[in-house]
Amino acid sequence: MPFSDFIGNAEAVRRLREMLARDHFPPAVVLSGAQGAGKYTLALMLARAMNCLERPTPVGTTAEGLTDFCGHCSNCTRIALAQDLEARVAEAIEARENLRDTDKKETRIFVQTHPDVLVIPPDPPQMMIKVDQVRHVIQRIYYRPAEGWESVYIFTSSAFMKEAANSLLKVLEEPPEFATIFLLSENPGELLPTIRSRSMIFTLGALPSAEIEGRLEKLRPDWNSRQRALVARLSEGAMGRALSFDLEGYVVSRGHALVVLKAALGSGDHSELFKTTESYRPGAEGREKIESLLRTLYLLLEDLMCLQAGAAQLVRNTDILGDLQKMAQTADFAWVQRAAEGLGDVERGLRRNLLRSLSLDAFATALERAS
Ligand SMILES: [Zn+2]
Repeated sequence: MPFSDFIGNAEAVRRLREMLARDHFPPAVVLSGAQGAGKYTLALMLARAMNCLERPTPVGTTAEGLTDFCGHCSNCTRIALAQDLEARVAEAIEARENLRDTDKKETRIFVQTHPDVLVIPPDPPQMMIKVDQVRHVIQRIYYRPAEGWESVYIFTSSAFMKEAANSLLKVLEEPPEFATIFLLSENPGELLPTIRSRSMIFTLGALPSAEIEGRLEKLRPDWNSRQRALVARLSEGAMGRALSFDLEGYVVSRGHALVVLKAALGSGDHSELFKTTESYRPGAEGREKIESLLRTLYLLLEDLMCLQAGAAQLVRNTDILGDLQKMAQTADFAWVQRAAEGLGDVERGLRRNLLRSLSLDAFATALERAS
């Protein structure tokens, strides 16, 4: 799996590879971009390129003067084992759960599939990078890599506890020449300005939905063209989100959202509304279910807004365009706005733990009365 498998953001990838080829790679790199933009995938590719045992040519560069990696040597394959970050982190958390209470408190979460590549994810339950994680990095970073040429540290979030950020800053003031730190961030503004100024920032931008749609044709042949078009529009330019999109779950949520909206528009059947909202139960699972329902409701309202504004090309739920156009005949601008406000009330009610089904019913019936 060489760099040519990385989808999109060709310019940023080329610059990073050029710096590698010239042996001018900065000690700290911030990879910024939305969730699913490919930050982690790219950092692991760079870690492999730095440590590949069989780089394509003697100086480790391709014909265009760019560094690549083989993908099958022992360094490449072990580093690649960290690719499924969610699964590796879940394993580390489970291992910690099984420890004695005293050890549990002192154990921090790391992912390591190769001795020279350490992945540092946010540590639960706070889901932030903690000072003990950075201390662990400091203890190791001044030792030379054991099996490769460059030791690599990948922080997968920029949410640092205050003390952790200050410790990291000390490393960045005097980084060893044989180590590279990657900071992955959805929002680099979260990082201390002094950390940002000691790092080189690369931004992975959103891909056009047509490009994602095209890639999905090869990568998700199990989806038909309508499904691919829908997923491409819903993944907001992030290839990783498109590839891991839960289409089935989304379609179920959207079905429920349409029942609620149609009842609110006075065109739906109330027994269907009650039957649907009845299925939203309290508890953790119910919470997740209603959160995805609310997200879907907002998306549908946005699509109705686009239709009102005569911008049908911006509609994301393209596969139900006919349905949406019919709804847009009754749902004028003011109605959509009232609906969005009503959804805000439902969200606030949920935070106060009001019964889910009741607040959804109230949302639909209040809108219906007002229209
Ligand atoms: Zn290799």
